Amino acid sequence: MSKTFEKLQPYLDKSMALQTARNLFEWDDQTTAPFEAAEYTSKVIGILSDEYMKSMVNDDVRKLLKKLQEDKEQEELTETEKAIVKELGKTYEQLESIPPEEYRAFSELTSVSSRRWAKAKKDNKFDDFAPYLKKVIEFKKKFAGYRAKKDKTPYEILLGDYDECFMMKELDTFFDRVKAEIIPLLKEVAKKSETIDKSYNYLNYDIEKQKEFCKYLSGYVGFDFNRGVIAESAHPFTLQLHNHDVRITDRYMEDNLESAMFSIIHESGHAIYEMNIDDAITQTLVGGGASMGMHESQSRFYENIIGRSKSFWEPIYGKLVDTYPDNLKNIDLDHFIKGINKAAPNLIRTEADELSYSIHIIVRYEIEKMIFNDEVAVEELPEIWNKKYQEYMGITPSSDAEGILQDTHWSWGEFGYFPSYAIGTAVASQIHACIMEKMPLDDYLKEGNLIPIREFLRDYIHKYGAVKNTNQILQEVCGEEFNVEYYVNYLKEKYTKLYGL
Ligand code: ZN
Repeated sequence: MSKTFEKLQPYLDKSMALQTARNLFEWDDQTTAPFEAAEYTSKVIGILSDEYMKSMVNDDVRKLLKKLQEDKEQEELTETEKAIVKELGKTYEQLESIPPEEYRAFSELTSVSSRRWAKAKKDNKFDDFAPYLKKVIEFKKKFAGYRAKKDKTPYEILLGDYDECFMMKELDTFFDRVKAEIIPLLKEVAKKSETIDKSYNYLNYDIEKQKEFCKYLSGYVGFDFNRGVIAESAHPFTLQLHNHDVRITDRYMEDNLESAMFSIIHESGHAIYEMNIDDAITQTLVGGGASMGMHESQSRFYENIIGRSKSFWEPIYGKLVDTYPDNLKNIDLDHFIKGINKAAPNLIRTEADELSYSIHIIVRYEIEKMIFNDEVAVEELPEIWNKKYQEYMGITPSSDAEGILQDTHWSWGEFGYFPSYAIGTAVASQIHACIMEKMPLDDYLKEGNLIPIREFLRDYIHKYGAVKNTNQILQEVCGEEFNVEYYVNYLKEKYTKLYGL
């Protein structure tokens, strides 16, 4: 370890500890904290956050960082240390570009605007939210402007915060291909979708039995209960303190069998990623996933590509039927597989099927581009949203609540985030294609043996954390960088076969 890096280490350790404490409060808030705790606990969190900022942003760290960025110092660093310095540099650039009083004003604004969004969604009144959204956008444009570079537009600055490998050029190419291939396919599938009877999914399913089966599923795909726990929350999510403490949640609905099952497989995919990150880098700045998109690729690989395949269910479908004999005794495996892969145009992103999912993201991406290119006024957004849904899906939202108001992201100023979901989905298909060349994936699934798959993902992707970026990982796994054709082929092949097109 270089002398300079050694001096930096105690600062990194302290900020990591404070960040871990904040995460633990976040977990507690979403799962077990009593309703009235928020106001008093937020005082504690405020102090922890201040301390976190001070431990990270101060003259000592600034000087050490600057020195470590010099060529001579870089030569002395290991690959991991270099990645940590790069990550710290990004954090500094982000934090220091914004004047503290503006950052505070923005934080106050988003806490109000997110509440206004929730109310406007409930009341189905975009106009009540519009003035707040306008202010949030103004702030984001200004903040992005502070970091603007010659080769990047303000919107690309925001995109880069989530994945440095996907700027507008890459995303335009990606989404143009998806539009050209998947929109016509979805329209074909839609015509046949009604022939699949999925009413069994909406019968009554005992919640306690669901919890038991979901726990089984989670362990089945490889969630390690010695390093993780499962709790309940309003929306399923994953949160890690480090690679030996990874927590996931699920949500159970009495009249929906699939919802909790596929959520738990999804969150287990995120969790397995975190659990497999190397001991040497956990609790460092590169001790999380490579990017939002890469994280999402792992959860969707487990949820959709493996989890919705016939081979996956072959060894365990009997157990599901035994859990709910009255509801499922007449539903054979083929029927069930068609049910869990039923696809049709739809309006709500979070409930979308695998085939239509990226279309939802394209609508958001195109609108975000318009916003940051100053091509649209906030008042016009609902109309543009509805037009795009009509054009791509062939259906129009009947209200803003199921249209432009459905997602919370923009109320928090999270612009540039949505593409990560689609990148993840497409990356998962690419990894799938490459895994199939390297091992008899289907045979393993039919045997109920998921260990080789998990070990492969660990060795090629998970263990590196954020030391490598999305394209570097793909290069290693597949011998090439991101390539949208894998995704297009996967969807075309799967749905043509499933629907007999
Ligand atoms: Zn996810």
